[in-house]
This record gives sequence, structure tokens and C-alpha cells, in this order.
Amino acid sequence: GSAEILQQLRDKLSPDGNVVSPRGKALTEEVFGQPLTPIEVVQRICDDVRREGTQALLRYGRQLDKKELSADQIRVPAADLAAAHAGADPELLQSIRRIRDNVAEFQSAILHRDVTITPKPGVTLTQRYVPLHRVGVCVPGGAAAYPSTVLMTVVPAQVAGVDEIAVVAPPTPFGAYNNDMLATCHELGVTEVYRMGGAQAVAAMAYGCDIVPAVDKIVGPGNLFVALAKKHVYGTVDIDSFAGPSEVIVIADETARADFIAADLLAQAEHSPGSAILITWHEALIEAVAVELEIQVAQLERSELTVDSLESFGALILVRDEQHACELTDSFAPEHLHIETANPRQQIAQIRNSGAAFLGQHTPVALGDYAAGPSHVLPTGGTCTWAAGLSSNSFLRSGSVTEFNADAMKAIAPDVERLAEKEGLTAHARSVSIRR
Ligand code: NAD
Repeated sequence: GSAEILQQLRDKLSPDGNVVSPRGKALTEEVFGQPLTPIEVVQRICDDVRREGTQALLRYGRQLDKKELSADQIRVPAADLAAAHAGADPELLQSIRRIRDNVAEFQSAILHRDVTITPKPGVTLTQRYVPLHRVGVCVPGGAAAYPSTVLMTVVPAQVAGVDEIAVVAPPTPFGAYNNDMLATCHELGVTEVYRMGGAQAVAAMAYGCDIVPAVDKIVGPGNLFVALAKKHVYGTVDIDSFAGPSEVIVIADETARADFIAADLLAQAEHSPGSAILITWHEALIEAVAVELEIQVAQLERSELTVDSLESFGALILVRDEQHACELTDSFAPEHLHIETANPRQQIAQIRNSGAAFLGQHTPVALGDYAAGPSHVLPTGGTCTWAAGLSSNSFLRSGSVTEFNADAMKAIAPDVERLAEKEGLTAHARSVSIRR
């Protein structure tokens, strides 16, 4: 039944999933006066913001985030950013600078460069990459604060050469009122920070309003409402991927340590919601990890939320063998994959689908979440079968540049004319023959 369990988890976390907590449902009923699915909620919010602009943005901030703000309070004043930075823990700022350097080093190394070929004399073909002009970054702020998300989105955008970066975070203590998040923005040179979150912030950035000019692309993680809103506005703007509730699959063998694995599962469940799944072919490990989970969860600060999350979205799965583990993992296509086996490269070679993979017992996912260099903004809900995680390349747009001289044009002309005539597009053919 392991495949069925995975399917159940997948259904709960999928991009079209309609599962929200009882608290979320109650909030929907309170705000809309009727039970709506998250997709319906997001549609309503986006349409209202598109039609009414700032007024709808303020109204939803009041109703959903319980924060009464006037239009001129939405943008965080420069003085507040500077004050948050001045008051920040100096060691935190040092860590932020080191992490910024790690992220910038990796993201610069992988940045696409223009490619030019001369396939024949007189022909120059170029694929060029240009940075986007203006992007919006969603930083979550409902259940936890994420200064790390500022690093993992803003630094790749800066490496790519984006001109304008707008950061939005909900008007909550974990969001736009979180000093560490604001200090991180200031440290990175971000000056546009807005106190708005959820679907309403996504809509405001996509359509533009008095407060925030429209952006070209919206990136960054968020809860189901943020992720569905990004999907809704795609086409008006570009989006990065469906970076919704976090997930990890840990593949482990008899060499793995149960205490490490329990810690890894709890780290993901702590996102609340976050899905944490162990897949192993070593039966004794299941029991050992279950015992460790009991011990360790009691020591955590967010243990109640974490237990909720583990109960709803967690699983310890025993499979026949290594091959079965790899196949199941591939079908789940997890955001994070952590392989804690004697030879993790052997398993990763068999697995196509994962947003980010972490190899070996010395590479907990948290290294990637916070500091290693690849962005932690990753596709979730099984979407990494076709989507990639955020990177500096997400902030580039490619375009081609073609140039022929007269001889090269004459050489290719017969093929162009023949195809154009077969398609009945004789004006196309003539635009070439007239030059021969
Ligand atoms: P969030 O800021 O994404 O969402 C909070 C907002 O959601 C609120 O401000 C509100 O406007 C809206 N909202 C909440 N309940 C609603 C309802 N019933 N109806 C309409 N709108 C509602 O914050 P969060 O809750 O902390 O979620 C962050 C998520 O991001 C977590 O699940 C975490 O796992 C995930 N995450 C993912 C990645 C990734 O790369 N995939 C990285 C970091 C975090």
C-alpha cells in the first residue's frame, strides 16, 4: 500500500489540492460568508484586486491578516529598514553576508551566457540572455519568519542583473514586521518592501495598483493561497514555479542513523504544513526512527504544529528493495530528496525527479535551506517532473539574434521559398525571392 499512501499525500499537497486546515476553512467562511475552495478564494481575491486595486488589497489585509493599514502604510519606510538593520544581531548580519557570498558564487557560476555560432560563412546566430526589468518576491510570514527566503530569491535576482526588486511579506510579526527579514532586505540593498501577503499581494504585483507598480515576474514560496494565486496570474506575468508547502523524502539503508533521520523529518514537518516521508528497505529502521521521533519532537519549540504536520503529511514506508525505493521516489517527485545510504550516488543516478537532492549523512537539507548556494525556492506538489527550482537563470529571458549576409541569404533562399509556397504563404516566399 505504499503507493496508495504516497498518492494520498500527493493529493493533499498537490497544486490543485483543496485541503486546508480547519482554521483556514473557518477564516474563509468568516471572510466570504460561505465555504469556498482555495481555488475559488484565490479567484475572488485576484479578481477583486484587479478590479478595485488598492481598496481590495487593504480590505483583504484587514480581513485575512487582521491588520488595519492605510494605503501609505503598505510600503515599509526606508527609515524602518535602516532601523531594523541597525538593531540587528551583528552575528546574524555576518552570517547573512557569508551566505550572500555563497549564493552569489554558485548563482554566478551557473548563469547562462550568450551563445553565438557561425554555422556557415555569412551567418551569425546568437541566443542572448537579458535580465528581467522588474520582479516581485514573495516572502512568507504566516507560520514562520523567512529572512532566508530573502537571501534565496533576492541574491539570484541581483546576480542576474534585475533592475528593480519588490519584496512582499504579510503584515504579521513573522512577515513584514519581522526585524531580521527587514534587516536582511536592507543588507542586500532592497529598498522596496511591502506589507502585504497572500493572494492579494500576488494579484497587486501582477496587475499593479496605486501602491505597487506591476512586475514582470513573481517568484518565491508561500502557502497554498500564494501558490494558487501565482498560478492564477500566470500569463499576465511570469512566475517561477509552484513553490508550495514543503516536502522531503529521505531514502535510507542499514547504514543510516535513526536519530539523524528523525531530525531530518522533523525539520521538514516544522514548516507546518510540511510533508516528511522516510522510505527504506531496512525494516528495523522504521521502528528506530519512530522511537526517535517521539523523543525528539518533545524537545522542539514548535512541537504542537510539527506533530500536526507529521500526522497529516508524514509517513514511514517500508519497501522491498533499493529499486522500489527509487521508483516510488521518482513517482512522488519530491521537492527535497535526502539520500542517507552507503552510496547515495548509486540511488541518485536512478532518480530523475527531485527539486533538490542532498547526498549523504553530512548533508542535511537545512544546509541547502540556509547557506549552501542553490536556492531553497523549489517546486513542490509533484511539479518537479517538469519545473525547476529558482536560480539566477529564472531572472533571465532569452531571445535569438539572427544575421545573414547576401551570399548566405541566397544560399538558404530556395529552402525557404519551397516551404513557404507549400504552406501557401506566398508573401513569405516573395520577401526572400525579391532579394535574390
Ligand atoms: P504565507 O505568507 O505564504 O501565507 C500567509 C498568507 O496567506 C496570509 O497573509 C493570508 O493572506 C493568506 N491566507 C491564510 N489563510 C487564508 C485563507 N483561509 N484564505 C485566504 N487567504 C489566506 O505564509 P505561511 O503560512 O507561513 O506559509 C509558508 C509556506 O511556504 C509553508 O508551507 C512553507 O513550507 C512554504 N515554503 C516553501 C518553500 C519552497 O521553496 N517550496 C520555501 C520556504 C517556505
